[in-house]
Amino acid sequence: MPKAILFDLDNTLIDFMRFKKETAKAAAREMKRKGLPDTEANIYRAIFKAYDRYGIEYQKTFYRVVKKYRLEVGQAERIQQAAIIAYLKRKFEVLRPYPSVKPALKRLKKRFRLGIVTDAPRNKAWQRLVLTGLDDMFEFVVTPDDAGKKKPHKAPFRMALEKLGLEPKEVLFVGDNPGRDMEGAKRMGMGACLAEYGMGKRWKIGKARPDYRIRKFGDLEKVIA
Ligand SMILES: [Mg+2]
Repeated sequence: MPKAILFDLDNTLIDFMRFKKETAKAAAREMKRKGLPDTEANIYRAIFKAYDRYGIEYQKTFYRVVKKYRLEVGQAERIQQAAIIAYLKRKFEVLRPYPSVKPALKRLKKRFRLGIVTDAPRNKAWQRLVLTGLDDMFEFVVTPDDAGKKKPHKAPFRMALEKLGLEPKEVLFVGDNPGRDMEGAKRMGMGACLAEYGMGKRWKIGKARPDYRIRKFGDLEKVIA
């Protein structure tokens, strides 16, 4: 039985891909409505192309998308800002934890020490936790801004262990990414539980050897027992 459980955030506790898809849809619709000369489907694809190229946390996505159309500078700015607003409005509607995450965490919190180790920027991680109502569930949140490195580097895992004051074998790590989360945790000597429900189609299990796999978040308590 572990003494502490560490969680990845995106696609483990919150349905991050649904949020990115829904907000991209809303932004594409609004850009088209404000006069970007292309189809909604093409604009949507261009948004995800920018995410693929610059990273899903990239902060200038809509600027990149609009720029390609060589519009007059004021018109380009208008469309870009309209896209940002449509994105944010939709974000507040769709950013949710997976089903049963909140009640399960409340129960787990009584039995285990809980923390987060995420690759999201510190401000975005906390924003998502506040928005989903999960911000008071954890003792700490380790981000690359805190540890200086992203998973699967040992630095963020080590920082979490220092905060807990525990040995790796006393800790279970739960995450959706076989490479960053599972291999990273195993290399540290922690237990590892793969959140299969959050795994993107493109992730292959590869060399990761998780100790447990869960199909839904609600199964985590069974696995621990
Ligand atoms: Mg994740």
